[in-house]
Amino acid sequence: MNYHQYFPVDVVNGPGTRATLFVAGCEHQCRGCYNQTTWDPRSGHLFDEAMVERIIADLNDSRIKHRGLSLSGGDPLFPANLDAILALVKRVKAECPGKDIWLWTGYTLTQLSELQQQVIAYVDVVVDGKFEQELADPSLRFRGSANQVIHVLTEDK
Ligand code: SF4
Repeated sequence: MNYHQYFPVDVVNGPGTRATLFVAGCEHQCRGCYNQTTWDPRSGHLFDEAMVERIIADLNDSRIKHRGLSLSGGDPLFPANLDAILALVKRVKAECPGKDIWLWTGYTLTQLSELQQQVIAYVDVVVDGKFEQELADPSLRFRGSANQVIHVLTEDK
């Protein structure tokens, strides 16, 4: 998997202070996509073990008090990303107690493959659905268009 950007301290993409990763790779081709440079899974930088260690360390940095990790893109559920994303969310849940995981995807929850669902099992909140330019609304919180849905999957989020 490749990634485009990593923000160790972010207060925009999800609630509270977060670490945010924008991955490469997306097949949805939404009209009006704000992030077309991420579509090519070969674009960006290699997401290696050092990046995983960095994210874990940032989330556990007691000076920052992160609320959690945000995964966006591109699409974290792009098929070629799934092995790396699954390994990442497993480690975050095992090694960063109390931190939540938000994930943005162009797939809807009803469209997910078995492997994509395995990732979602470790995720607290999913914002799903393609970006629909006709339904775009800048006043929406944490989503770009009104068709997208914020699914809270765990009780305490
Ligand atoms: S899912 Fe997101 S990154 Fe992918 S084409 Fe749609 S808006 Fe762009």
